[in-house]
Amino acid sequence: MTNFDKLVVYFEKFPGVGVRQAKRFAFHVLTMKQEQVTELADLISSLSNSVTECASCHRFFSNSQASICSICNDVNRDSHKLLVVASDNDIQAIERSGVYSGLYFVLGGTVPLLSKETEQKLRGGALKATVLERSQSADLEVILGFAVNPDGENTARYIESLLADFTLSEKIKISHLGRGLSTGSELEYADAETIKSALRNRM
Ligand SMILES: [Zn+2]
Repeated sequence: MTNFDKLVVYFEKFPGVGVRQAKRFAFHVLTMKQEQVTELADLISSLSNSVTECASCHRFFSNSQASICSICNDVNRDSHKLLVVASDNDIQAIERSGVYSGLYFVLGGTVPLLSKETEQKLRGGALKATVLERSQSADLEVILGFAVNPDGENTARYIESLLADFTLSEKIKISHLGRGLSTGSELEYADAETIKSALRNRM
């Protein structure tokens, strides 16, 4: 395999990128100036050193000495609500809308309908531990914030079965974002008004 082909394989693994687009990216790299290529390579290789994964919600934040991010650390946030999302991008969209004051949990992806292996890559075990811990002292609402499409719905079912034992207790309740989100829409691309109505109309 040539270096070009290897690069195409890497780009193909990026979210939402198919093989044709991956090739276009690789050709684009060929047209870049050497300094830009070097800077890009350096940025990629140093990225994990410049961010920290929050020990509580698992989102990435700019490195400080802290192990907990500013959202999880904020005492003004409502710790009775835990919004489970697929990725960091979803949190950014919701924070931009300014309508949610609870806490988050980043699952790290979705469970596609046709694949079983992805469950292992997700933070299901960590989610269970977080839910259990947070519900010790008070009631907890776990809000599932996944895209309104088959994969998003499948992921919601996966979380429901994961937390099935817990929801027998009165203290833990699971809700879903309302259908203010139109079918097929992804949270990360939704505007503030849509997110507001999806949160308000949760079921
Ligand atoms: Zn956090």
